[in-house]
Amino acid sequence: MLDPTAAPSIGPLRRARDRLLCARVPAVLVPDRLTRHVAAGHPWLYVDAVPAITGARTGELVTLLGQGRRPIGSALYDADSPIALRVLTTARDEPAGPALWKKRLETAWLLRQATLDQTTTDGFRLLHGEGDRLPGVVVDLYAGHAVLKLDTPAWLPHLADLTAAIEGVVRPRSIYFKGLSGQKGGADVPPAQRPRVLAGEEPPPLIEIREYGMKLAVDVRRGQKTGMFLDQRDNRRLVRQVARGREVLNLFSYTGGFSVAAALGGAVRVVSVDLARAAVEAARDNFARNGLDPAAHGFVAADAFDDLAAREQAGERFDLVVVDPPSFAPNQKAVRAAQAAYTRLNAQALRRVRPGGLFAAASCSSHISMDMFLQTLREASRIARRPLRLLEVRGEPPDHPTPLHFPEGRYLKFVLSVAE
Ligand code: SAH
Repeated sequence: MLDPTAAPSIGPLRRARDRLLCARVPAVLVPDRLTRHVAAGHPWLYVDAVPAITGARTGELVTLLGQGRRPIGSALYDADSPIALRVLTTARDEPAGPALWKKRLETAWLLRQATLDQTTTDGFRLLHGEGDRLPGVVVDLYAGHAVLKLDTPAWLPHLADLTAAIEGVVRPRSIYFKGLSGQKGGADVPPAQRPRVLAGEEPPPLIEIREYGMKLAVDVRRGQKTGMFLDQRDNRRLVRQVARGREVLNLFSYTGGFSVAAALGGAVRVVSVDLARAAVEAARDNFARNGLDPAAHGFVAADAFDDLAAREQAGERFDLVVVDPPSFAPNQKAVRAAQAAYTRLNAQALRRVRPGGLFAAASCSSHISMDMFLQTLREASRIARRPLRLLEVRGEPPDHPTPLHFPEGRYLKFVLSVAE
């Protein structure tokens, strides 16, 4: 029997313990209309859609509560982003934490082993954030060197655990932290967000990867994204398959992925155009790496719009034109302007295609849906008076999976057509 003199203190003690537990794992009530989206696999909750989360800091794990305050999952909290919560799990037996990060990486690795031919391809996305159920985390592998990039500083407190998980699952030669997406470099970047080696050796200045046997050099420190645009791998292979005997114009060529693919596929001449001089030089180097003579091809550091206008003046035409510009729609507000820009650019590029030639147009903006992009191509085709027949309409490759209930994640459009 309890000592009656001690009894009154039990209540306050228990309340203090409960407060401590609550402080350790904050909770948020998910509105009814959103619980089924969370259950179906949508990985985001916007700040406007959930009650204010008091007492939680960026990077903390938050319990999601459904009807009757029943736990329905765990999420990562970001106090400064419109995406307040990134859903980590909706399973009862899956507590968020280091063991879950490792499990997600293991699952992702098994999926890559099942869907990629690693005998010919050693540059690929190991973990695609939302699509591999670690929202906000991207890990790319370049010939055994891992590059980690984060969409949110909320993952920074978990960086050591993520590093250990990557090491445990793929034993990479190095793990390089590329920083936060959208982050500008410079001295004002806080030390925790600065790019650096997290584990293993210093990655070499250029890592040579193979993509269906094609060699490409990747500069993980200075390159865009984590070093290159892995998402176009299967589209570069498609270009390789249709390039034989053709003269090719590759606009927004970056380090020449589509260009080298076309040349390896038997294109007679490939002209690569990019605004970034370093990228154009890298493209030239990538030709040489594949035993192709750069002198037989064109390399132009210029604005693609100016370049197209000059070729229009000269009446120059090609048997295959590839157009893969940077995103024109960084946010929802920019969508209309972006649609107009895609239409204008594609109409201009389409006029450079010889009758019967091929036209490959891409868009990497998540705010432009496939339907919207096809509509811009219809407009472009009408303006250029060049009817198009679709040959291939493609999205992301299998190492960039997306949850079905997350259409926002389907950012890549690649359309190959034949022009009248
Ligand atoms: N097709 C490439 C990726 C292209 S990314 C690949 O498969 O790897 C977009 C490229 O457009 C970048 O290299 C960027 O330098 C370039 N770019 C941006 N604005 C440009 C412009 N106005 N004219 C030409 N290139 C531009």
